[in-house]
Amino acid sequence: MRSGRARVFEFSGARALFTGIAEGNLALHVGDDPRDVRKRRERLERELGAPLVFVEQVHGADVAVVRAAGDVRRMRESTCVADALVTDRPDVALAIMVADCVPVLFADHSTGVIGVAHAGRRGLLGGVLGATVEAMVDLGAAATDIHAVVGPSVCGRCYEVPEQMFHESVEKQPALASRTTWDTPALDLPAGAVAELQAVGLEGKSINVLGQCTLESESLFSYRRDPQTGRFAGVITRHATAA
Ligand SMILES: [Zn+2]
Repeated sequence: MRSGRARVFEFSGARALFTGIAEGNLALHVGDDPRDVRKRRERLERELGAPLVFVEQVHGADVAVVRAAGDVRRMRESTCVADALVTDRPDVALAIMVADCVPVLFADHSTGVIGVAHAGRRGLLGGVLGATVEAMVDLGAAATDIHAVVGPSVCGRCYEVPEQMFHESVEKQPALASRTTWDTPALDLPAGAVAELQAVGLEGKSINVLGQCTLESESLFSYRRDPQTGRFAGVITRHATAA
């Protein structure tokens, strides 16, 4: 990743990016100076050419729907609690913040509906990914037309969990089952995300897993590596800029 500039990629008619440590912390809740955070968010908005909408994430399964210009204004002025965002608007960018949890970006080329979701262990088992797809379908998308990008998160060889948590989680989503490289119980969140997405009708070939591990990568924030860490973001928009 070039320093100071996130790498924008295109998929299914949308433009998307994942920031990293180079773009700085984007979260207001981690003790960072809010003026610095706002400046970094504004820099991203200039790059994307569209207003960014964030939500206050609580590891739940609620999805915020951005339908009208008034929604964009309201959500930028006051806090909206949700762990996913969807919209059919081409003039807004949706952002989700993570540091080990899985950021998932969604786009349906045929209807232009896009979405983002934050899926850690709790959110994933709480059904946040299925709820996001359902909200996109409510906006006119078809699950079989939706493409998803599963972004950087802690990987299944690094995400060690207590034995009991392993069993409770795997009972609900068997695809989560993994072992650390040091042979202890672990959860594979990206694999769990893929299984959750396929269970609600996305096709395997429409799901792209980036596979980068936050704990192992020095260019990404990782809560497991440092609990005082910042957050990077997964962002998606249909807004086209002449960059
Ligand atoms: Zn790893």
